[in-house]
Amino acid sequence: MIAVREGQEHILSRLAGPVPPEVLAVPRTLGRVLAVAVQAPLDVPPADNSAVDGYAVGSGDIPGTGTRELDVVGDLAAGTVFTGTLGAGQAVRIMTGAPMPAGADTVLPQEIVERIGARVRIGPIGKGVNVRLRGEDVEAGGLVIEAGTVLRPQELGLITSLGLWQISVHRRPRVALLSTGDEVAEPGTPRQPGQIYDANRFTLRGSIEQCGGQVLDLGIVPDVRDTLRAQLLEASAMADVVVTSGGVSVGAFDLVKDVLEEIGSIDFWQVAMQPGRPLAFGRIGDTTFFGLPGNPVASLLAFMLFVRPALYKLAGRRRVHHSTWQARATERLPKKVGRREFKRGVLSYRDGAWEVRSTGPQGSGILSSMVAGNCLIVLEEDRGDVAAGELVLVEPFAEPL
Ligand code: AMP
Ligand code: MG
Repeated sequence: MIAVREGQEHILSRLAGPVPPEVLAVPRTLGRVLAVAVQAPLDVPPADNSAVDGYAVGSGDIPGTGTRELDVVGDLAAGTVFTGTLGAGQAVRIMTGAPMPAGADTVLPQEIVERIGARVRIGPIGKGVNVRLRGEDVEAGGLVIEAGTVLRPQELGLITSLGLWQISVHRRPRVALLSTGDEVAEPGTPRQPGQIYDANRFTLRGSIEQCGGQVLDLGIVPDVRDTLRAQLLEASAMADVVVTSGGVSVGAFDLVKDVLEEIGSIDFWQVAMQPGRPLAFGRIGDTTFFGLPGNPVASLLAFMLFVRPALYKLAGRRRVHHSTWQARATERLPKKVGRREFKRGVLSYRDGAWEVRSTGPQGSGILSSMVAGNCLIVLEEDRGDVAAGELVLVEPFAEPL
């Protein structure tokens, strides 16, 4: 038996670095991981500019009390530049975003002035107000986004605000995926007596895509040694990672183990966790292999704990573990000392605090418990039964921050 944490560390330590980068146009990079840090080639904004529609003036012309009339010597739309220099007693009408004229350092919003023909009457205002300074968003030469950052819409906009159009991101890790078992039937086709429809290939496929992988779906492989061997060799030839479900326990037809011992170097682990004890991890050639358990909750949980951090690392992400926090259990939770247990929970924020309850029956085949829940309740190895009202760790089913 190994502990969950040991398994995770072992897996991460065995992975080579991230998959190679590729250069893509910015709009194609949503959700990708930045491979090379973005440095600012220019200041944003590129010039001091007005934050309001109004009148640009030099602060020397602002009255301390009362009012003063200035000559309006220009009219500046956004995107136009005032060519001269503002003299004493002069103002320029300016629109939001237009660059500040030379000689002006303050803008009076149009609502607080009075326009009288070619003149404008102004009152007191603070020096320098309503001006957005050159470089206040991003300074030229500075680090804008670190390598290893997952690109969200706001990163894409910040990058294009620098005038950049092509950036270097990691390619998506390619993950070959297959289900094993004579009893597993393809959804949308008739089912033979004794068969069940495939759930795992679809929870896993969605999970791989959600964490930035590209899925190569190899379907269902029967419990036939030669077919399994051929499929695994083919899978390893085309993917960075191969993921299978089923066939890693010690049942009579559990061939994954035998075949992998022939074609790769694989460890078979009993992980001190519930659900989902058996796990296979190793390599077929240069490809990383994960053999997940067959039970649907167990396979998805094993994916979250072991495959997801590996895919994140291969994808080049800086952070590979999701956040956990504490919530108060609203009910008793049975727990065996000596293993890490993961219950599916419903987490909510009530009366100023996080609280969590279990989704009900927690069998490793009860996939609806994952559907009813919005988090894992993580109960540490050394913990026994949890009484109602105790604090427990929760890990929401969501993206890492
Ligand atoms: P195994 O690890 O192959 O012994 O499978 C354990 C349990 O998971 C058995 O009840 C299988 O029928 C079930 N199982 C295996 N593969 C799948 C799958 N792809 N979808 C749903 N259930 C599965
Ligand atoms: Mg099986």
